[in-house]
Amino acid sequence: MLNKDHPRYQSLVYRDKIVKAHQQGILADSGMIAHGRGETFDYLIGEKTTPNSQNTIDIAACYFLTSKKPVLSVNGNTTALVSEDVAELSKLLDIPIEINLYYRTPERIRNIEKVYTDLGVKELLGTDEDDFIDTPDLNGPRSPVSIEGIKKADLVFIPLEDGDRAEKLSALDKDILNIDLNPLSRTAQTSTVTIVDNIVRAMPAIITSINKYIDYDKKDLQEKIDNFDNKTNLNNAIQDIIKRFE
Ligand code: ATP
Repeated sequence: MLNKDHPRYQSLVYRDKIVKAHQQGILADSGMIAHGRGETFDYLIGEKTTPNSQNTIDIAACYFLTSKKPVLSVNGNTTALVSEDVAELSKLLDIPIEINLYYRTPERIRNIEKVYTDLGVKELLGTDEDDFIDTPDLNGPRSPVSIEGIKKADLVFIPLEDGDRAEKLSALDKDILNIDLNPLSRTAQTSTVTIVDNIVRAMPAIITSINKYIDYDKKDLQEKIDNFDNKTNLNNAIQDIIKRFE
């Protein structure tokens, strides 16, 4: 029923997905608020992928292609917006998906599990049948991680993650990739690589970038990684916002 001529058409389409995911028991109430925080920053960055963010997306692709044991950690917001892209990335590089929720309930886990099994994902971790271990220094239902997933992974992809979990995961000996529209969030500040972009643009762009680099020599990919600095990336993202309003 949305009018395509509406200037905020895309934004309304994604709001609709968020509302439906909430009605379907995929998204917690707070997930709707988190989406609003993301929209604010998307407005500030101009609702497009900046050259700086495209470069960071390429670095993320290099990490995916060089890591030994990556895992894709998904929550309700990620599932509401980009479950198809997550499933495609999982299949492209044979990476397991781990469901990891801030507000974990058996019902939400089952609903999210169904989304990915319906998309043909074979290796789905973090379900109630899985074996878990607590994240050090983190309490509550968001603490457990899958032993076969995040616990053993060398690379953890945590789009739209809460800052507490991101901080604790970053303290472990793992590379942390993250997508977050807010360059100032604790998640953005503590990750190894932060893509400051909307997940709906960043996910397809990561897949395109992986396909671009898939046949490259691993040494060349590692060189790109070694030349990347996340602090510089985040400062560039903040400068990009400031420049828009100068
Ligand atoms: P932190 O705890 O990391 O300091 P926070 O408390 O704002 O940050 P949450 O509200 O738990 O974090 O998580 C939401 C984060 O996800 C926010 O930083 C928000 O900007 C970001 N976000 C929300 N929607 C999107 C989206 N579609 N694409 C990218 N980032 C998003």
